Amino acid sequence: MGITNLERVQTGCVAVVGFPFDENYSYLKGAGQGPRQIFDAFHNQSSNTSSERAIDLAREDRFVECGIAEVDDYFAMTELTRVLLERGARPIILGGEHSISYPIVRAFAETHPKLTVIHFDAHPDLYDQMEGNRYAHGCPFARIMEEGLVDRLIQIGIRTANPHQRAQAERFGVETIDMKQLSRKLPRLETHQPVYISLDLDVLDPAFAPGISHYEPGGLSVRGVITMIQDLSADVVGADIVELNPSRDINGMTAMAAAKFLKEIADKMLGSIK
Ligand code: MN
Ligand code: MN
Repeated sequence: MGITNLERVQTGCVAVVGFPFDENYSYLKGAGQGPRQIFDAFHNQSSNTSSERAIDLAREDRFVECGIAEVDDYFAMTELTRVLLERGARPIILGGEHSISYPIVRAFAETHPKLTVIHFDAHPDLYDQMEGNRYAHGCPFARIMEEGLVDRLIQIGIRTANPHQRAQAERFGVETIDMKQLSRKLPRLETHQPVYISLDLDVLDPAFAPGISHYEPGGLSVRGVITMIQDLSADVVGADIVELNPSRDINGMTAMAAAKFLKEIADKMLGSIK
């Protein structure tokens, strides 16, 4: 699998691993370069490695960087996630495009049968298929809901639902907090179940995050997403941060936003580990 530091991964750890998979893209390739850029941004000396609660993750034994997985098979990520979960860790997976959430959540469903997914995205990613590909990066949440892998799916920041995707959301009982609602008031997200966060960086307005493949103006600010993560009341057991496309980035600013989310999600996880 080519990941490192596995011996340090144990119960109560946050384990960060890159999955540079971008074979299921629909418009622009390049998200495969994302994990390297997020790790580099995390260590970039223009900032530091502390969360806003002043947890210095680079000095935290319970924060383990496992490097970038050498997996070219889409479903290999299920097995790798399973390995991390069996060791008692809370995985944060850096993508890669968004199709990776499906094989990842499959592993989570085995250990967390009552999972809520909080999905940040401009797009619902509920297409039944895209140009014949049922695993395309616009489809993962259709697969997740069809298989009943999670109890609740809450989608945040949506601003591209077409009639098909709206029908899919209704069919699967997806809870949608779209951009129209968000622009009026940020919600405090309430759930008592373990939470998996799936964070597509294009939930941000392209003004904050140009390093993505699909520009959808009218999105959230970096601060808005951070506030919602920090205010979450639930136990965050896993996460992915996806769709960074470094070939479109400007001065690494989107990679820095991704690294910022990595720090705040890791902090949230560490704060809830007893
Ligand atoms: Mn997405
Ligand atoms: Mn998206």
